[in-house]
Order: sequence, then structure tokens, then C-alpha cells
Amino acid sequence: MSEVTEVQVRQEVREWLKQNWNPDLSLIEWRTKLADSGWGMPHWPKEWCGRGLPAALTPAVEEEFAAIGAVGVARAGIRLLAAATLLEHGTEFQKQKFLRRILTGEDNWCQLFSEPGSGSDLAGITTRADFDGDRWVVNGQKVWTTSAHHADYGTLLARTNWDVPKHEGMSYFILDLRQPGVEVRQLKQMNGHASFNQVFFTDAKVQPEYLVSEVDKGWPVAVTTLAHERRLADGLRAPSRKGDAKGRIYEEERVETATAMEPYKWYPQRAGRVDLVLDRARETGAIKDMNVRQDIAKLLTMSRAAEWTARRARASQRQGRPQGPEGSLGKLAASNVARAAARVHTMITGAEALLTGPDSPRDGVIAEILVSVPAVSIAGGTDEIQRNIIAERVLDLPKEPRFDTGPFRNVRRN
Ligand SMILES: Cc1cc2nc3c(=O)[nH]c(=O)nc-3n(C[C@H](O)[C@H](O)[C@H](O)COP(=O)(O)OP(=O)(O)OC[C@H]3O[C@@H](n4cnc5c(N)ncnc54)[C@H](O)[C@@H]3O)c2cc1C
Repeated sequence: MSEVTEVQVRQEVREWLKQNWNPDLSLIEWRTKLADSGWGMPHWPKEWCGRGLPAALTPAVEEEFAAIGAVGVARAGIRLLAAATLLEHGTEFQKQKFLRRILTGEDNWCQLFSEPGSGSDLAGITTRADFDGDRWVVNGQKVWTTSAHHADYGTLLARTNWDVPKHEGMSYFILDLRQPGVEVRQLKQMNGHASFNQVFFTDAKVQPEYLVSEVDKGWPVAVTTLAHERRLADGLRAPSRKGDAKGRIYEEERVETATAMEPYKWYPQRAGRVDLVLDRARETGAIKDMNVRQDIAKLLTMSRAAEWTARRARASQRQGRPQGPEGSLGKLAASNVARAAARVHTMITGAEALLTGPDSPRDGVIAEILVSVPAVSIAGGTDEIQRNIIAERVLDLPKEPRFDTGPFRNVRRN
């Protein structure tokens, strides 16, 4: 079969949009059409809401959508991490039941991985799942669970075997959060938002069909989710359309943004808002200070280099190559850029950078940057963990000494 070209794809999607795009449809009606046609996720397989196109052609499709202001499939939060994981490891039943509803936005998802004693050491989780002959029964606690308060389902990593080394005794499940055995408690952050939760399980139930991995073989599946998370670290953004577009679909999308996207509204600030730096330096007069100018130049150089690394990673991903070191390098670069940006914002704004409220610099956005930036170095794997990955898997340096190789039951834990 001859390979499809970008020109052909653009023509085809333009024609399809001409026939089908209607801003007066409901959001779900429209996204159902997208899932049925495959144009919402063109690089997904044809049998699973995609068109089987090379991932390199997805940007062309997205550009055609953007050109006429057409809304895409739901992308908020970790739903696409869940979807990518199910596409690779899920059963037919799971793909059938969940993929379409992820794209239409009917179901919200969260990631039930981190625990009070297990963040960096994710394989040390102690939330347990025991099979009672009928269903899995889950007990334990997760923490830092973004969006659990909006979520219908979570991807859950739980211990199913205590007598084997820690990486070999976990299973990967889909957990229905809307059940009596699950209690979600919101946590307040230092930037005033409440995006995270503690999630407690007391005899929560998981039906056998919701086991994604084989029993005890959940770790490689979790690694798939984490690899996608690093790739998407700079991609979880709000829709960029203007807020005043008319039509039922836009109104419903705005409601979705205010609810399902709400936990992410500080994410631009956590990335450091490099885009504001030059304007702020000009409006405060700090641009005349040669030290500030030097630091702005360094920041913009670093930021541009990080962007190119991210683009290189995306390009190689689109060509179907396995993930290289760019994932961890890009994540680390994003932390460095965010930290440097916070420092430059402080140099420019001075002590007023601490103020919030209506009279504060940029209505409190500068202060929000300062208290949001630390999250970049933690979420999705800390800077130190990225450095370990680069050292061990890219540079082939000796591995960290390990004291946790025996049966997990005997491993000392904090
Ligand atoms: C914005 C945000 C969103 C998040 N969303 C989710 C979510 O939706 N679901 C979820 O499950 N989790 C989520 N997390 C949790 C996140 O994955 C963990 O916070 C992260 O993995 C770090 O774990 P920890 O907080 O337990 O810190 P720890 O692992 O306790 O680390 C504490 C410190 O020790 C250092 N350290 C630990 N181990 C090593 C080592 N081997 N070598 C060198 N230094 C080390 C760390 O780098 C860090 O500085 C989120 C976190 C943030 C900030």
C-alpha cells in the first residue's frame, strides 16, 4: 500500500470537517463523531477510534482543526496517559469500555500511584489488593492524586504479592472511584489551589475484568504510563481558543474547562511564565539593569534550547522510535528553566513579587509563579530521579546501591 502524504491527509480532514463540523452540536455528540471517524486521534489504530496514520501527520490534522476553531477530543488531566496505557496493555473488554468515553470526555481519570512512603520509590507501594475468589479487595492509601475529586476511574498500582522482590509483586488495575470503599480528601497547596487529594481505600472492590496487567506483573505497565507522563510533561494545557467563541459546543467546553481542567489552571505558572519576562522587565524599567539583562538572556537561551530538545523528542516519537534520553533530559530542563524564570521574575519585580490580590503585580500571577515552580521538580519523577535515570540508563554509570532486593515482606520501609 502506498504511503499517505500530508497533502492528502490535509485534504481529507478539511473535507470531513466541511461535512461535519457544527458548533451547535453538544460537546459529546461532536466528540462521538470524532471518535467514530478517527479524526480525534488520527495516529491511534483504526479499530480503536483512530485512523492508523503515522504519528508524524497528527500536527497537520491539528492545524486543520485549529484553522476553523473546531474542538478536539477531551485531553484534560491524565486521561490520555490512561488511554495510551490501555492501548498498549489493555484487554479488548477494557479498550471497548473505556477508550471512547475517555475521548468524548464522559469519564474523568486520575493516577493512583504515589503513597505517603512511596513517591520516588514507587515500587515500594504498600496499598494491597487481595483476591477474595470473586473480586479484588483494595486497602491502603494514595496521595498527591491530581483530580481524584473529579475522577470516575483511576489507574491503580497495588501490591498483590509480598513474597517476591518489590518490582515483581505489583498489579495494575482500573479502579472505579464512585464506590463506598473509596474516600477522597482534597489537599490545599501553598499556591492556594487544591488540585491534589489523599485517597483512602477500605475494602474497595475491583472486578477481575479491570485487571490491566497479569497478576504481579504491573510494573512494566506502570513504566509505560510514566514514560508517557514524562513525554507529556509540557503538554497538559488548557484549550487556547478565545473565550468568546459562540455556539453550544464552545459553551459546554468552557464549563468543562472550569471543572475538569480546574486542577490544572496554575500549570502555566508552575512552568515559570518565561513569556512574561521581557514585558515585565520593560514595564518595570528593570530592562535597563545590565545584570537583569544578562539573566534574561541566559533564561531565554536555556528555554529555547529546552524547547528544541522537546521538539526533537516529539519528532522522534512521531517517527515511531522508542523513547530516548530526551524524556528525562527534557523533564530536567523544564525544572531548570522554571527555577531560573522564578529567579528572574524576582529580580525584575523585587519584594512586590510576594504580593497577591488585585493591586499586586499582574494580579498575583508573579507571586503564583514563585510558589508554583517547585512542583515542576517533583511531579512525574523528581530531578534527582531523572538524574539517576540519565546516569544509569544513558551514561551507563554504576547503579545506586540497593538494599531492597529480597522478598518485599522483609524489605525495610519508611
Ligand atoms: C504537581 C504534582 C502532581 C502530582 N500528581 C500525581 C498524581 O496524579 N498521581 C500520583 O500518583 N502522584 C502524583 N504526584 C506525586 C509525585 O509523583 C511524587 O511527589 C514524586 O514522585 C516524588 O515523590 P515524593 O513526593 O514521595 O518524594 P520522595 O520520594 O519522598 O522524595 C523526597 C526527596 O528525596 C529525593 N530522593 C528520593 N529518592 C532518591 C534517590 N534514590 N536518589 C536521590 N534523591 C532521592 C527526591 O528527589 C526528593 O528531593 C504529583 C506531584 C506533583 C508535585
